[in-house]
Amino acid sequence: MAEYTPSQKEQAFLDSVESPKYKRELISGLSPFINEKAPEDVRDFYTKEELAALAVLKGTDRDVEARMPVKLTRHYFEMAKRSPQLKRIVKANPDETLNLEGSEDPGYQMDYSPVEGLLHKYEMGLMYVVSTCSAHCRFCYREELIARKEIERQDGTVAKKGLAQIPDIIAYIKSHNALVEKNGGRHPETGREKLREILLSGGDPMVLANNKIAAWFGALAEAGIETIRLGTKEMAFYPERFDDAFLAMLDRFHETWPDVGFRLMIHFNHPDEFLQKGDDGEYLHNPNGTPQWNPVTKKAMDGVVSRGWLQVENQAPIIRGVNNDPDALRIMQRELYRAGVNNHYFFCGRDIVAYRHFNVPIEEAWRIMNESQKGLSGVEAHARLSITHYKGKTEVVAVTNEPIPGLAGSENGVLIFKNLRNAADAPDRGKVCIVGRNPDAIWFDDYEDRVLFDEVGLYDYARVQKTTA
Ligand code: SF4
Repeated sequence: MAEYTPSQKEQAFLDSVESPKYKRELISGLSPFINEKAPEDVRDFYTKEELAALAVLKGTDRDVEARMPVKLTRHYFEMAKRSPQLKRIVKANPDETLNLEGSEDPGYQMDYSPVEGLLHKYEMGLMYVVSTCSAHCRFCYREELIARKEIERQDGTVAKKGLAQIPDIIAYIKSHNALVEKNGGRHPETGREKLREILLSGGDPMVLANNKIAAWFGALAEAGIETIRLGTKEMAFYPERFDDAFLAMLDRFHETWPDVGFRLMIHFNHPDEFLQKGDDGEYLHNPNGTPQWNPVTKKAMDGVVSRGWLQVENQAPIIRGVNNDPDALRIMQRELYRAGVNNHYFFCGRDIVAYRHFNVPIEEAWRIMNESQKGLSGVEAHARLSITHYKGKTEVVAVTNEPIPGLAGSENGVLIFKNLRNAADAPDRGKVCIVGRNPDAIWFDDYEDRVLFDEVGLYDYARVQKTTA
């Protein structure tokens, strides 16, 4: 492993960071429910029948916890009590493992991992810095990381996905960027530009202590990274985490490296995750007619958003039984934008193991998102529907009901995909793929027999032959 010593500037920043301990009141696994060890008021989160149906799967091929570990915070339990949709996010269900079809490594991410824990596929880098979250979403598309599954690598070896380590990552960034600079702005072998943006992901980096997060921030800033992103669902699972100590760390970071940008990528799936409900199950409203937020979430959100130098962006998959509801998504987009959060992406679910249980058909996801944006102002309706093809991030641009005159195969209408990003510096951005409609299609292969036009090459994609450095 490479060596790493923080600079004096970094050390001064790190010395200023306070790292309190948090009481998330976690419940991990099904056994606290089955053995009645969970706090009394939490126990009936699962009925006896549900627990019995899950218990018989234990140790079999259909073991739901082996597919994705069960985890819950007290805060999320309280929010989910009145929300069937939130329950579906965190409660294990025997049907999850009825069909275990799906990819072990969605997106063939390991094809683009030059250093353990780092994906360098696009113009930015993504790091796995931790392999758990405060609670676990059943639909998670990092289930292979969170469940610590063994993944086949491109070279045929089989191993769990490793986590990023500061010395190795910083050595890679410096060497990549030095080669780029020496070569006039492009990497001599791959043609890539400077690595200027890095996403801390996992798992959820917000489960790490402030000093661990700060160590990443300082090291990345000193290595010349221009913008840091942090992907988190903690605003939903445990908003108390965004407390004064965390905000003070952000402020000190900004004072120390004022030219480094920061984007907090949050993950709300449903407005029930942050709005207050009355006993009748309806949202409560403020005197001016706006919905009332949960006060803890509102304080956390205000704390972050009030740091005007950073951006907060929401992105979420559309999941069956959770948020395949235009009205819920409309409320969520309105409220988040009103709170100072940009609506970035909605995603069609990936082809993770068991994806058919969670994903809604692609055309249905497009309809839901399109309907949800009727009644939004232009600035509220910025989100796009994205689906991650192995080739790269792709937008579902439009679904038509009418045929294209003269185009055989378009009799039932067409769906148009547009490439947003692909490996390196997105040479295929803007190119489209048009397929004849298939209302049951859940993944790209369901359109294989009806491709009408494919300038982007979604349907003749081949895996890269060697790790891109
Ligand atoms: S918060 Fe994100 S990474 Fe964590 S379990 Fe949910 S979807 Fe997966």
